[in-house]
Amino acid sequence: MDLHEYQAKERFRAAGIPVPPGEIATTPAGAEKLAEDLGGKVVVKAQVHSGGRGKAGGVKLAANPAEAKAHAAAILGMEIKGLTVHKVLITPAEDIDTEAYVGVLIDRATQAPTFIVSAAGGIDIETVAHETPEKIRKLTVDPRYGLLPHQAYWLADFLYDDPSLIKQTTKIIAQLYDSFVNSGSSMAEINPLITTPSGEVKAIDAKMSIDDNELYRRPEVAAMRDSSSEPPAETLAREAGLSYVKLDGDVGCCVNGAGLAMATMDLVKYYGGAPANFLDIGGSSNPDKVVAALEIITADPNVKSILFNIFGGITRCDDVANGIVEAMSRIDIEQPIVIRLTGTNEEIALKILKDAGFPAYTSMDAVVEEAVKLAKGAEA
Ligand code: GDP
Ligand code: MN
Repeated sequence: MDLHEYQAKERFRAAGIPVPPGEIATTPAGAEKLAEDLGGKVVVKAQVHSGGRGKAGGVKLAANPAEAKAHAAAILGMEIKGLTVHKVLITPAEDIDTEAYVGVLIDRATQAPTFIVSAAGGIDIETVAHETPEKIRKLTVDPRYGLLPHQAYWLADFLYDDPSLIKQTTKIIAQLYDSFVNSGSSMAEINPLITTPSGEVKAIDAKMSIDDNELYRRPEVAAMRDSSSEPPAETLAREAGLSYVKLDGDVGCCVNGAGLAMATMDLVKYYGGAPANFLDIGGSSNPDKVVAALEIITADPNVKSILFNIFGGITRCDDVANGIVEAMSRIDIEQPIVIRLTGTNEEIALKILKDAGFPAYTSMDAVVEEAVKLAKGAEA
């Protein structure tokens, strides 16, 4: 789960990191009022789960409340990388001397939190890593001991020469690590970490992703979820207890089991097609889940055919077949549907589906080939 900038800033502030004040507005008039309260000269910042807002026109400096109002009017409702802006953060405009990058994320290769810092901040860190890797310092943290003081110093020392700036930044890096761990985070980033002409170090942007598996034990973080800024299909899937990932193809896939779902996607590609999604309905024959899965799949306008691939182990194929038939009686689906069932009670299941008028298969190759053919036929 991604946090908005203003939410990540709340977490950072709680850990002691110097973050300028700020409030959320949802209307231009609200933005004007907040700008007055903050002294007039502010930055209006789009709150969406996407980087590069600055480049997209979603971060604007305002010299006075009237300008803040005008910027908010332009930014609210704007689309940034497919996401609509519903909220803007109004925060005092800071004077900036330098911009650095400080981030920590779980690195899958080392299976440990890894810090990345660079004095070349404010811009996309991937670009810096690619073009000027010598401008980056990395550090792997041993989670048994946490970030040690000399390690935080070693990172800060790479960014500045001035001892006061190094001292402030050493503290911020330690606080960032605490916030990262205490939030159940998989990524926490300050870009830019600024220095001001008066010699202060501050975080003026904040980004944080929470590991979904941490949410159950951190209700205060889980409460920060903003469903209105997530793709609707993902919200629907989560609420229905389904694992769903949208992809770019046109063959909708509804499969039980993550491994089988991945194998199905591979086979769709093998037969020249492209999967529209990953979807694992789990080991359930519950018609409600099938209905939710079909609603999610068909909400994607690219989907041209729908493929069920069910392996019945403990879940009985006849239960699943009945679930599918009931689900179909509840919703209208335009796209052709092909179903493959194999395992416990497959003969009964195939009969149930055939009687209800659905093409049913036991061979995975056959059903995938057919689903790809149907998707291509619909394109022609
Ligand atoms: P991002 O584009 O989504 O990463 O948004 P940021 O919050 O990082 O803002 C982008 C850029 O806008 C920063 O790198 C700064 O150069 C500039 N910016 C943001 N806030 C301020 C501010 O308070 N004062 C000034 N002068 N520039 C700012
Ligand atoms: Mn930024």
